[in-house]
Amino acid sequence: MAIRHARGAAPFVSSVPFEEARIRAASLYCSDGRYGEQFDDFLHNALALPRYDRLAVPGGPACLTGRLDVFWEGHSAQQGLDFLAAVHGLERLVLIQHQGCAFYRQWLKVRDEALEARQIEDLHKAAELMRRRHRELRVDAFFARRLEAEVRFEPVALPAGDGVLAQGLTSTQST
Ligand SMILES: [Zn+2]
Repeated sequence: MAIRHARGAAPFVSSVPFEEARIRAASLYCSDGRYGEQFDDFLHNALALPRYDRLAVPGGPACLTGRLDVFWEGHSAQQGLDFLAAVHGLERLVLIQHQGCAFYRQWLKVRDEALEARQIEDLHKAAELMRRRHRELRVDAFFARRLEAEVRFEPVALPAGDGVLAQGLTSTQST
């Protein structure tokens, strides 16, 4: 009875209308679902990047550091981003790390006291790697800090040459 009902049920139709235009922006962040809504909120509303392409993997930008312990994850993420650059005309990439990431603690065995520094270092490495691979790409980096029930997005200064960080939060028209 229940199965027949399920078969006969009308398919769910999203109330969100489809929009054809791509915005040529992507974000790479951790797949931790507890942060997913906040990542969307930040990218949609603070950075004004609706319909951005998502690359969610455990540890997020950790995979783009060139380290051996993330070799396969890095290979896969680079292929994904190369595809987006080639086919979706990617012009902007937003890298996000989040506080207390379990991928770092449990997979990479990073101690709690060293965690944030390592994540910031990895944002630098990931940005550098992507800018080497795609010279025209604008890369911004952020750290999502949890304060009880709030998640705060702090800009992470990247080495000179990126030069786009301050615009990240204020320029809503440039993309
Ligand atoms: Zn995580």
